Amino acid sequence: SVGQITADMIEMLSRTSFPMCMQELHQNLRQHHHLRHWGRQQYGLFLKGIGLSLEEALKFWRSEFTKMMDGDKFDKQYTYNIRHNYGKEGKRADYTPYSCVKIITTNAPAVGDYHGCPFRHVDVAILRQKLQAKRIPESGVNEIVSLVKGSHYQVACGKYFMLTHNTGHDFSPNHPNEYFDESQKALN
Ligand code: SF4
Repeated sequence: SVGQITADMIEMLSRTSFPMCMQELHQNLRQHHHLRHWGRQQYGLFLKGIGLSLEEALKFWRSEFTKMMDGDKFDKQYTYNIRHNYGKEGKRADYTPYSCVKIITTNAPAVGDYHGCPFRHVDVAILRQKLQAKRIPESGVNEIVSLVKGSHYQVACGKYFMLTHNTGHDFSPNHPNEYFDESQKALN
């Protein structure tokens, strides 16, 4: 982790250093001012893993959700779970962010969900469009798509990393937080 991360840093970090799975969750949270349970879990634990404190996490989720619901409703329905993920409620366990294998193999997203791994769960034609929108060169898009078709999802994600970070060395993430740390290392 890179130390103190505040709620207002997330937007910029999402563009520079988040893996595609977390970019998807972030963009959809900003667009819908809401995420369903597994999206909140996958994204919330990742944010905890990059160093967002409980206080900043509450500020972050509250500012987005209260664009479409009042603060009372947010406090009643959503703060418990956020506190729970930080070990402040229930069993007081300290929950850890999900690994790539967990994201790829469990809780496949349904319609209206934005969690999961885009390399595994997004239709190939749509993945292609998303990569093109991120200005990945056509040869890179083709390479990623062929890795995806061979079920090499994490290698495809690593290829995306290399193409967006100008690094020559091979990288294939085991964990979204590892991707984030590698990105911060490459950029700083
Ligand atoms: Fe996220 Fe891992 Fe999929 Fe990359 S391979 S998008 S880090 S779940």
